[in-house]
Amino acid sequence: MKPLILVTNDDGYRAPGLAALKDAISDLGDVIVVAPDREMSACGHGITIKGPLRVERIDPFTFAVEGTPADCVILALAQILPRKPDVVLSGINRGANLGDDVYYSGTVGGAREAAFWGLPSAALSLATRGEGSFENAARVSREVLSELLRKPLAAGVLLNVNVPDRSELKGARVTRQGMRRHGSKINETSDTRGRRFYWIAEPTDVWDGDPSDDITAVREGYVSMTPLGKDTTDRMTAVDEAERFARAEVVSAK
Ligand code: MN
Repeated sequence: MKPLILVTNDDGYRAPGLAALKDAISDLGDVIVVAPDREMSACGHGITIKGPLRVERIDPFTFAVEGTPADCVILALAQILPRKPDVVLSGINRGANLGDDVYYSGTVGGAREAAFWGLPSAALSLATRGEGSFENAARVSREVLSELLRKPLAAGVLLNVNVPDRSELKGARVTRQGMRRHGSKINETSDTRGRRFYWIAEPTDVWDGDPSDDITAVREGYVSMTPLGKDTTDRMTAVDEAERFARAEVVSAK
């Protein structure tokens, strides 16, 4: 039996990045797409619980969901797929998912949901600010899939892959998640009736610039591969620094 590959994304089931991924992997297994029916970028790991999830069967292998990528994965695993998939891929996203992006990203949210279910998964992104060319990213995605099929990472770990948008890649690096210095810019403007409205601007790229992080790798022309775990406990502070909260008088049992 051929491996079963579930594909989702946050750019919508008609996105060119998803088509490029499908084309690149179609001979490696049976590919089923369960993806949002529209663009859902920056929806993070959100799920829909206050309304119905409508699903449209586009063809026997493609399902469009009125929901988030995490919704898609849950529906696929619990309802749509005939059996447990061997690998879940999310992407290829148009735009990088580096550093703190992994919390906002619907692409990563979909892959993380699969990791929650103990399935091998990867979030795949093309680090571009424009339309971008998915050719290299599709080839890299195929390699990642082959490797996951050959030997998955530990259960609960997802691989966050970012491919630079350039014709010549220098190679690939295993990286750590980078940090961005925050300070969101807001663009203020008004509508035709003079009411003010606001846009959260693309964050300006100010990074800590750790040479081992994901953003540095992509900037230097390398594919970045970051293994992400679901436990986000800060072990540096959890033990010592946070201990005083547990000792605080207000929470002590009397
Ligand atoms: Mn997106």
